[in-house]
Amino acid sequence: MGGFDLHTHTMFSDGTTTPEQNVRAALELGLDGLGVTDHDTTEPFERARSAADGTDLEVVLGTEFSAEHEGFSVHVLGFWIDPGFALLADELDRLRDERHDRAQRIVERFRSLDVPVRFERVLELAGNAPIGRPHIAQAVVETGAASSTGEVFDRYLADGGPAYVAKHAVSPVRAVELLVAACGVAVLAHPGLYGARDGEQGIDDELVEAMTGAGLAGIEADHPDHTEAHRTRYRDLARGLGIAVTAGSDYHGDAKTNRLGSATTPREVVEQLRGWLRA
Ligand code: AMP
Ligand code: FE
Ligand code: FE
Ligand code: ZN
Repeated sequence: MGGFDLHTHTMFSDGTTTPEQNVRAALELGLDGLGVTDHDTTEPFERARSAADGTDLEVVLGTEFSAEHEGFSVHVLGFWIDPGFALLADELDRLRDERHDRAQRIVERFRSLDVPVRFERVLELAGNAPIGRPHIAQAVVETGAASSTGEVFDRYLADGGPAYVAKHAVSPVRAVELLVAACGVAVLAHPGLYGARDGEQGIDDELVEAMTGAGLAGIEADHPDHTEAHRTRYRDLARGLGIAVTAGSDYHGDAKTNRLGSATTPREVVEQLRGWLRA
């Protein structure tokens, strides 16, 4: 198969598989590389690195970093970041606390909507991972208030929904600056999915231009949840800005239907991104 799946999750955030399972699955598919990009954490790095050690698979260690723009989240992938860089590590710690408090607020929203979900159960489902909406959605399904996590998102939890609470996070431009300062390469994740998730809405060109001014190296135009219109629009935008077009599956194990390796970035593009580090 070849290529790099540059966007995957593990149980260190809201995925359901271990880093070892993802590495094994990537090897079985014959991928050249695997991006390890859990939300707001660098915790899976050691395990992913050890699992790939001595194999032909190259792991690209990174994070899917949460930023905020006008009350909605914007996700920026940061590849090859230095987990010891204090300014970034501090913001990741702060985001973990913020996710904990926000989860409590979301649980209160559900309870006021007569969904008897318990915060303790959400904590159990998240384990040591920063708490994400998928953990809460799972706990809501267990109460019987909905039959699937997808239904929970559609009825309550999607951006702007009745149980949605925004995370306080840095701006997308600041996110790029922090990731670049941490020796990373910043790529905008799934630009078509911001705003109304099922509409044709996506992130504004002006915001992407401002992020590019701060050092953005690429746009994930190729994402399984993008329409053809999203793909064309953001591929053209990346070309116009002179930055890379990347692909990733956004694999979450059983938490989403996206299959590992279903979107891959060619090696030349990964080398172009790596070149950004030296530029
Ligand atoms: P959070 O980081 O807590 O805001 O949660 C974001 C995560 O929730 C994303 O990475 C997806 O895994 C999931 N998610 C967000 N919106 C939806 C949606 N409409 N349907 C299903 N999953 C979603
Ligand atoms: Fe996620
Ligand atoms: Fe995301
Ligand atoms: Zn993701």
